Amino acid sequence: MAGLSKSRILIHRQCPKRLWLQIHQPKLAVEEADTTARFAAGNQVGDLARSLHPDGLLIDAENLTQALAETATALRGKRRPLFEATFQAGGVLVRADLLLPVRGGFDLVEVKSSSSVKDYHLEDAAIQAWVAGKAGLPVKRTRIAHIDTAFVCRGDDDYHGLFAHADISDEVAAREKSIPKWIKAAQRTLAGDEPETEPGEQCRKPFACPFSSYCSPANDKGYPPEILPHGKRVAVQLRAAGYNDLRKVPQKMLTRPKHLRILRATKSGKAELDPQAGEQLRALGYPRYFMDFETIQFAVPIWPETRPYVQVPFQWSCHVEKRSGKIEHKAFLADGTGDPRRAFAESLVKVLKRVGPILVYRATFERDRMQYLAETFPDLAPALRAAIERIVDLLPIAREHYYHREMRGSWSLKAVLPTIAPELAYDALEVADGNMAQAAFAEILDRETQPERRAALRESLLVYCERDTLAMVEIARFFMNGRA
Ligand code: SF4
Repeated sequence: MAGLSKSRILIHRQCPKRLWLQIHQPKLAVEEADTTARFAAGNQVGDLARSLHPDGLLIDAENLTQALAETATALRGKRRPLFEATFQAGGVLVRADLLLPVRGGFDLVEVKSSSSVKDYHLEDAAIQAWVAGKAGLPVKRTRIAHIDTAFVCRGDDDYHGLFAHADISDEVAAREKSIPKWIKAAQRTLAGDEPETEPGEQCRKPFACPFSSYCSPANDKGYPPEILPHGKRVAVQLRAAGYNDLRKVPQKMLTRPKHLRILRATKSGKAELDPQAGEQLRALGYPRYFMDFETIQFAVPIWPETRPYVQVPFQWSCHVEKRSGKIEHKAFLADGTGDPRRAFAESLVKVLKRVGPILVYRATFERDRMQYLAETFPDLAPALRAAIERIVDLLPIAREHYYHREMRGSWSLKAVLPTIAPELAYDALEVADGNMAQAAFAEILDRETQPERRAALRESLLVYCERDTLAMVEIARFFMNGRA
């Protein structure tokens, strides 16, 4: 039978079927890009936490027997911080991120790249502490070291103060009694047949499950009741009444106007567009600026005066439409050699001039980033704040006045665009969403990236961001033409 580790018990806690598939059918797993990015951030943060304890010892034996032996030797030797100390008890293997010697024993510290302690960290740490304790380690306290978002990068690789430590010993103690039950349950699952678990909330909580395409092959097809916005309770009622497809739902079962619009459009296959969308847009003046930003955030900030997880803008695209209908495209993409904020803000202020509506899609994002830049560069603040006042959000106009059944309950740009201008779909682009844009820019920043690869990534980013603002131009024109 497959051995258990902390990760496997946690996977079983998320979903028994997920653990069973991981062990018996691993080839069915499809990892999402953000899972890979999360692991990369976790590794980077782990390395950094170690660098803050230069007297520490890393147990890096690949082989389990060796790692257990090295840990035992290290614990008998000089008292110092240990990284990846390995313990086994009750049929479970764990590797502790960090052991810190304290009077009478050790503090067990789990290092996390998140900005606060999450519920799932408590179970994670409880398993570590339980196994280490059973294996004979005197655990004095259990702590989570997480990223402190108040930390400000000083440069020169000085990251003292990046971590905040939370003592979770009481929470861990409250869970320790349950751990033998969790272990037994996971062992039973692995020894049995594939569990018959229905997809549900557990498929994305606490993390996206890599077996979603196996469990829900028709996930992105069909019109399930769950696509109704803010309609969780309604969806439960519809399912209980035997309706799994909106096309079969009688009109009398829904009451909210937005739900009824979705129902009508889903049944008929015809889009609905209110004339008010066009009226609101026709009332705007010219020139019109269609604007979009791309940003990058780091658990470990790399530029002085930036904080962890702050979204640093590195790229903008802007289509400028004149009253004549003539369109001009402008763009900025940081060169990747340093902090992009100043060049981003200066170039943006220049292109936006002083007059004309600035159309964005989901305005809080661009507004917040401009506000952040205004606070960072007081000399540019008047121009940035004046531009903020000119922002017009296309998203609420779309949300209130337009629906096509292929949007499946979403008004994101990527959901709306294919129903209006399918030729502009993102499918063929190398960079096709914000996460990919962030990953591409991170690769550009990497000193190891070859010049040809860097040039290709820049091109892909420019094409992607331009597509976003062109999409807004098309959506606005479509609404103004009033044809659905
Ligand atoms: S997709 Fe959902 S139901 Fe299927 S294994 Fe994953 S968590 Fe379980």
